[in-house]
Amino acid sequence: MAHEPHPIVPRDDGEGDSRGGRRGRSAPCPLCRREVGARELVETTLRLDAHTSGLVAANAPGWQPSDGLCAECARRFAAALAYLRQHFPRLLGSGHPILPTAARLGASDRFRGRGVTVAFLDSGFYAHPDLVEPRDRILRYVDITRTGARRADLEHPDASSWHGMMTSVVACGNGRLADGLYRGLASESRLVLVKCGSMRRIAHDDIRRGLEWVVRHRKRYGIGIVNVSCGGDYEASYLIDGLSQAAEDATRSGILVCAAVGNLGHVPRHPVLPPASAPSVLTVGGLDDKNRLARAGYDLYHSSYGPTVDGLQKPEVIAPGIWVAAPILPGTTTAAQAALVLRLHAAPDAELRKTIAAHPAVDPDLDAAAGLEPARIRELVAAKIKGHNLITASYKHVDGTSFAAPIVTSVAAQMLEANPILTPQEVKHILILTARRVPHAEVDRQGWGVVDPEAAVAAALEMRPRPERRRSPRVAEAVVSRGRA
Ligand SMILES: [Zn+2]
Repeated sequence: MAHEPHPIVPRDDGEGDSRGGRRGRSAPCPLCRREVGARELVETTLRLDAHTSGLVAANAPGWQPSDGLCAECARRFAAALAYLRQHFPRLLGSGHPILPTAARLGASDRFRGRGVTVAFLDSGFYAHPDLVEPRDRILRYVDITRTGARRADLEHPDASSWHGMMTSVVACGNGRLADGLYRGLASESRLVLVKCGSMRRIAHDDIRRGLEWVVRHRKRYGIGIVNVSCGGDYEASYLIDGLSQAAEDATRSGILVCAAVGNLGHVPRHPVLPPASAPSVLTVGGLDDKNRLARAGYDLYHSSYGPTVDGLQKPEVIAPGIWVAAPILPGTTTAAQAALVLRLHAAPDAELRKTIAAHPAVDPDLDAAAGLEPARIRELVAAKIKGHNLITASYKHVDGTSFAAPIVTSVAAQMLEANPILTPQEVKHILILTARRVPHAEVDRQGWGVVDPEAAVAAALEMRPRPERRRSPRVAEAVVSRGRA
């Protein structure tokens, strides 16, 4: 996406999670729109230090300390500030740093998917340092489309490797190449990588075969979650479609299927394709949080949405689907160009020409610009950073529900570490119950709203094994009673 995240202007018509309405001494928090006690807004503001206050102002243009904020927002911003302080000074600035997922969603790093294996179905993969250093966490690599695939294939960058490398690192990367900044929420999970196609095409039946492989190898690798950031070729009823049935089988076997809903929200029928359209699948749409922390400015990404051909509403939840940091494939021309552009960005004027001359034939545009004035070279460098969405020499920002799904997958991995006996449907129900709606946005497009990792993990911890517990009737009832109205 080319557009810039625009400043957030607080709106007056908020509703949010209204608690207590507008009667008496309550008022909406200007940052999240929740109704809270008017005193809370004032008292929280009085306790705010100047640095946190500055971060809030930077994320919610127009906000002033006298506007106040709720205690929960104050906590979120203080935690984000601590996280940013820890990591940002060591990064090359591009003028517009992309916030890491944990800071955006207020996720803690207490749980990191330890003891959980996540399978990924995608066009191809790469043994990225964020997954294999200091400890190799890839348990198995398999190619559904041909025999003879070997783990060593993951060492060679291939055009088909990009997408799966990004989805797997968004969920399970440890931020190795970013000093830990761009760490996925499941940074200690183990991975099983299942190649189901190429960058040109991933066939409907190959995704089905991939899911069937995952089910067959579930016990061997301890697979608890499968992330599917790809869709089938056509809409189909789950009653007759083999891919949808494979997804239902996976759920029955104890694997949570987490699928991207697709990016067709702007086309007339905004179709939801299998396996995202299957009933038991946890289907994820995109949030556009403008790369900011103030909930009042949240908007929706143009994700596909239901009803499906079976009349099911999808997606169930949303997560950041734009401004998501993802790795650049090492060893490619793109990576070499990004490294040179970022090196020039950090170089003093006097070094620009020398630096270009020392790296010939990396980027023809830069070679051609070597004789220009420093100001012109800087313009070109700035245009390249923006045009290629570069964050650092190793990361860029990307968009699509392909990246929202792995974020939810990583939250599910945190939940399974917190409570390994949760069934796939219990994980799904908790994520739905704890999600928070984006105010003013259509319910059909966001389901139950933005996932809340901290609340989801807390709910997972609360569901301790009880002798009388069956398939969590309490949770199921609560979901039904909350409804979608
Ligand atoms: Zn608030």
